[in-house]
Amino acid sequence: MTNPTLAETPNKKHHVVIIGAGFGGLACAKALGDTEIEVTVIDRRNHNLFQPLLYQVATAALSPADISEPIRRTLARYRNIRVVLAEVTGIDAVAQEVKLSDGIAIGYDRLVIATGSEYNYFGHDDWRRAAPGLKSVHEARQIRHHLLLAFEKAERATDDAEKRALLTSVVIGGGPTGVEMAGAVSELGRFMIGRDFRNLDPSFLRVILLEAGPRILSSFPEDLARYAQDYLEGIGVEVLTATPVEAIATDHVVFNGTKLPASCIVWGAGVKASPAGTWLGLEGKPGARIPVDPDLQVKDHPFIYAIGDTAAALGPDDKPLPALAQVAKQQGHYLGKALCQTLTKGTKPEAFRFRNRGNTAVIGRNAAIFDFGRWQLKGRLAWLLWAIVHVYLLVNFEKRILVSIQWIWRYLTSQRGARLIEEDAVPSTVRDLPDRGNVEASRLQERSGEEM
Ligand SMILES: Cc1cc2nc3c(=O)[nH]c(=O)nc-3n(C[C@H](O)[C@H](O)[C@H](O)COP(=O)(O)OP(=O)(O)OC[C@H]3O[C@@H](n4cnc5c(N)ncnc54)[C@H](O)[C@@H]3O)c2cc1C
Repeated sequence: MTNPTLAETPNKKHHVVIIGAGFGGLACAKALGDTEIEVTVIDRRNHNLFQPLLYQVATAALSPADISEPIRRTLARYRNIRVVLAEVTGIDAVAQEVKLSDGIAIGYDRLVIATGSEYNYFGHDDWRRAAPGLKSVHEARQIRHHLLLAFEKAERATDDAEKRALLTSVVIGGGPTGVEMAGAVSELGRFMIGRDFRNLDPSFLRVILLEAGPRILSSFPEDLARYAQDYLEGIGVEVLTATPVEAIATDHVVFNGTKLPASCIVWGAGVKASPAGTWLGLEGKPGARIPVDPDLQVKDHPFIYAIGDTAAALGPDDKPLPALAQVAKQQGHYLGKALCQTLTKGTKPEAFRFRNRGNTAVIGRNAAIFDFGRWQLKGRLAWLLWAIVHVYLLVNFEKRILVSIQWIWRYLTSQRGARLIEEDAVPSTVRDLPDRGNVEASRLQERSGEEM
C-alpha cells in the first residue's frame, strides 16, 4: 500500500476521518479547518464535553449546558468539515473504511482515532449501576439527582440510622476526580444542611474517600498530596488510604470487612482506553491504549493515527503520556497540522513533543494544587489559577463568560444554582432509594401477590 500524496493524485481531495470530538479530536479538526482537505468528524454525542468540570454538574454548581457545546456549532465555520452523529463500531483497515452501528461505511485516506477512555471497574462491571463514574452528562445528572434526593428523603426520615445512611456518601478512588468530588460533596452538604433543611443534623453528614493505594493523588508530589488530604479532612471528608473497596451494592459499600450503609456512591478509581484497539485487532489486555509512533501513527497501520486517552504515546522518559486533556489537545493540534503538511506538501513532520503546562486538582473552595514539575503551588493562589485556566480552556467565549459569572456569584454567596431534581429523576441506572411510596407499594404487592 503506498502513501498517496497530493503530488501523486493532483485532482483528488484527501479525506481525513476523525472518530471522536473530545479534546483531541476537536483540536485536530480545528487544525485541519479551512484547508484543501475534506474532513469528517464522527461522534456518538452531538456535543463536546468539558469533562474536568463534570464534578461541578454532579454537585449542582453548574448546569450541563455550561460545560457542553454542540460539535456542529463549533465546527460550522469551517466549510471543509462535516459532522456525523453516529457510533463507530469497527474499522476495516484494508478497505480504509470506518463502520457505523447503522451499517453505513465511511471511507478515509487518513483516519484519526480520538475515542478517549471509559471508567475501569477492574472486572466488577456490576458495580457500575450502584456507583456511576463521571464520564458523561447523563452520569453527572444521575449523581446530582441521587445526592439531592437523598437529602430530601433524609429530611422526611424519622429513624436516625436511616438518616445517617442517607447522608453518607462514599467516593471511590483518590485521584484528582475523587478528591474534587469528595471536597465538593462535603461543601455542598454542609451548606445545604446549615441553611435549607430544618430536620437534619450536620453531624450525620459523612463523606468518605476510599483509596486502595498508600496515598491519595499519587500522580502529584507527596507534599501536595499531604496538603490536599489535610484540607479535605478539615472540611469533614474522611480519607481512608490503603483501603480497597471489597463490595458495592445499591445501599452500601464494604471495606475493611465492614459494611457501611451509604446512599451516594461515586466511582473515580481508574480509567481504561476506549475499545478502539480491538477494532484494529491489536493484541493486549482489553482496555489497553493503542501503541503509536512518535508521529502518532498507529504502529503497522500507515494511514491510521491515535491521540488522547486512547493512545499510548511515549514521553521522553519512555513512559506513556498521562491521560490528560492537555495531552489530547496538544496531540490533536499537532496531528491536524502534521496531516496538512503531509497531504498537501508531501513532507514528513517532526515528531510530537508534549509540553507540560502543569498538572492540577481542585480540593475545595479556595484550595487547589498545581504541579509544574520544577515548582509547585497550593492554596488560594493555586485555586485562582485553576479557575482562570479552566475558564480559558472552555470551548468558546460565551461559556467562559457564563461560567465565570456563576463562579463569582457562587464564591460571594456560596449558593448552588443548579440544585434541580428533575421530575423523571432517578433513571434506570440509578438505584431506588428507600422511599415511603416504594415501600408501601411493595408491601401492597406482597399482600396482593399481583405484579405492579
Ligand atoms: C471527571 C473527569 C475530570 C477530569 N479532569 C481533568 C483535569 O482537571 N485536567 C486534565 O487535563 N484532564 C482531566 N480529565 C481527563 C480529560 O478529560 C481527558 O484526558 C480528555 O478528555 C481526553 O481527551 P480525548 O480527546 O482523548 O477523549 P474525550 O475528550 O473523552 O473524547 C472522546 C470522544 O469520542 C467519542 N467517542 C467515543 N467512542 C466513540 C464511538 N465508538 N463512536 C463515536 N464516537 C465515540 C466520545 O463521545 C467523545 O466525544 C478528566 C476526566 C474526567 C472524566
